[in-house]
Amino acid sequence: MARKIGIDLGTANSLVFIPKKGVILNEPSIVAVSKDENKVVAVGTEAKVMLGRNPDFIVVSRPLRDGVIADFRVTEAMLRYFIERASGAISFFKPEVIISVPAGITSTERRAVVEAALSAGAGAAYIVKEPLLAAIGAGIPINSPSGHLVVNIGGGTTEVAVISLGGIVTWSSVRVAGDKIDRAIANFIKKRHNLAIGDRSAEEIKILVGGAVESKENEVAEVRGRDLLDGLPKIIEVSRNDIVHAIGDELHDILRAVRQVLSETPPELSADIMDRGMILSGGGALLRGMDEYLSRATGIAATIATDPLLCVVKGTGEVLNNIERYKRAVMTKR
Ligand code: ADP
Ligand code: MG
Repeated sequence: MARKIGIDLGTANSLVFIPKKGVILNEPSIVAVSKDENKVVAVGTEAKVMLGRNPDFIVVSRPLRDGVIADFRVTEAMLRYFIERASGAISFFKPEVIISVPAGITSTERRAVVEAALSAGAGAAYIVKEPLLAAIGAGIPINSPSGHLVVNIGGGTTEVAVISLGGIVTWSSVRVAGDKIDRAIANFIKKRHNLAIGDRSAEEIKILVGGAVESKENEVAEVRGRDLLDGLPKIIEVSRNDIVHAIGDELHDILRAVRQVLSETPPELSADIMDRGMILSGGGALLRGMDEYLSRATGIAATIATDPLLCVVKGTGEVLNNIERYKRAVMTKR
């Protein structure tokens, strides 16, 4: 039974951290609800398997879209599942929960997250902005009086922030990240090869051969889909460099967000960032050559955080253990 729980509520993946135990849950942010009874039938991996394979009476959805809560009730159900998994179904005390939220969240959305956590069984819910948690989880001393640039590329959003003295100085958030990259890959394959593929296949291709910069080897992968002309299953090949071109606009949107933040950063902090470089976190940081792409285009060295998919949840753990030290980063209290 845990008294303190850290939750990375991501658009693609949600993770749960308990002090002393570490990451106890890491599952896709997907919920399956039965229409007739209006009941949650599956959460996470179990629900993901149902995606695209569900009968009419089961609705499989991702409650968080573009980094904000798109469906409050389903988000609450998901939070309840996480909190129960972490604290045991029958618990005498209500746990304290820290939840990551996108930097661009409105106060209404923030309240919605707190409400969802409280009605899902939390005794107190604290909110911390994702870029701060990503930085903390990446081992950056966020309270120091120097500038740190963090680029967190998730499923729904990319968040770019300059952090100093425990807070965010400048930031930008774009609704372009892993999901839009997947969609661009699916569109490219449809246009070039007349082949329809699903979201999951597009993501698989991205992970298998995708990249942000061209490679000499130009690796290829097989893609299975449905031919749009005759409706039959078909196999084609795509290469790394095809993908690099197909996702060029999306990469450029991410780059623009980084440039915007840099242009709004006070000179003292810019100098720190030139010295230290930027740190990349989130699943999108794993796209091959993402660091090279961003550093080439900005002239600033880019480093991929250790375990980029775990940075935010590790950050929640660090804050849970040292709540006094990070009090400036914690936003809502109940
Ligand atoms: P969120 O915080 O929004 O839930 P995550 O940080 O968990 O997002 O990252 C999920 C995204 O990272 C997905 O779009 C996924 O496709 C992408 N991703 C995961 N692994 C890789 C990889 N090896 N290469 C490229 N993209 C990846
Ligand atoms: Mg995330």
